[in-house]
Amino acid sequence: MNIYHISYTEKFVGERMAMLSFKGCNFDCIGCIREKNEYDIYAEDRKYIDWNFENILKELEELNPRRLYLGGYEPTLDPDLIKIIENLSKLDVHIVLMTNGSRIDERYAIELKEAGVNEVIAGVKAFDREKHLYYTKRSNEPVLNAIKNLAAIEDAYFRLQVETILLPGINDPADIEELAIFISQINPAISLFIEPWIPIAGVEFEEPRKPDLIEAVSKAMKHLYVVSYHPLYSEIKEIRETPRKAKFIEILPEEKREKQ
Ligand code: SF4
Repeated sequence: MNIYHISYTEKFVGERMAMLSFKGCNFDCIGCIREKNEYDIYAEDRKYIDWNFENILKELEELNPRRLYLGGYEPTLDPDLIKIIENLSKLDVHIVLMTNGSRIDERYAIELKEAGVNEVIAGVKAFDREKHLYYTKRSNEPVLNAIKNLAAIEDAYFRLQVETILLPGINDPADIEELAIFISQINPAISLFIEPWIPIAGVEFEEPRKPDLIEAVSKAMKHLYVVSYHPLYSEIKEIRETPRKAKFIEILPEEKREKQ
């Protein structure tokens, strides 16, 4: 089992949400925020437990989230993932798998659906092949194929969302429009979420500008019915200073207590 961390909040877009983070990734992104901070950058409270799947399930039963995200690095590298999802699906929770999509062939897409995943968020780091290779050290071909494989079996209980980053020089508004055209050729009803890159100290890229974000959204909306986006990181920092911010707690293995 690759799960190394749980994060929970009562007020994520108005509902209880938990996230299970998985270790290990087959990409090597230049701007990997996980490598800089493996835990919850927003957590204000912390709890430690004996780390095994039984105890993780017990915590989730107590927290009783409405949505459960499987994310972190790359969950599909976990050889136990299908079994884990089968167990989580007994909790009566909406299960969302966040993935770089690189390992989802036709068969694995069906296995995920049958195990009980309700939604897959497939991340496309860059639509341009060369820029994707530069940014992740891996081809984006399997990722684009995964979108086709997941879209082919989408229904009311197994939804697909494509997520992409806005990163100047790697995935610009024009690249995002190309991605939107690619998605629209599969099905224009597939939703696209645009995530502005989070600036990281010591990494060559700068935070995207608000006009670029607006341009990316406008260009994508020409081809897809549903396009949404995340505020810039600098905007979130401001938003979180208001009294309406959600409070996050994180749950970690007991042996991490001294190291934090
Ligand atoms: S796919 Fe995600 S976890 Fe993996 S290296 Fe890239 S940013 Fe990091």
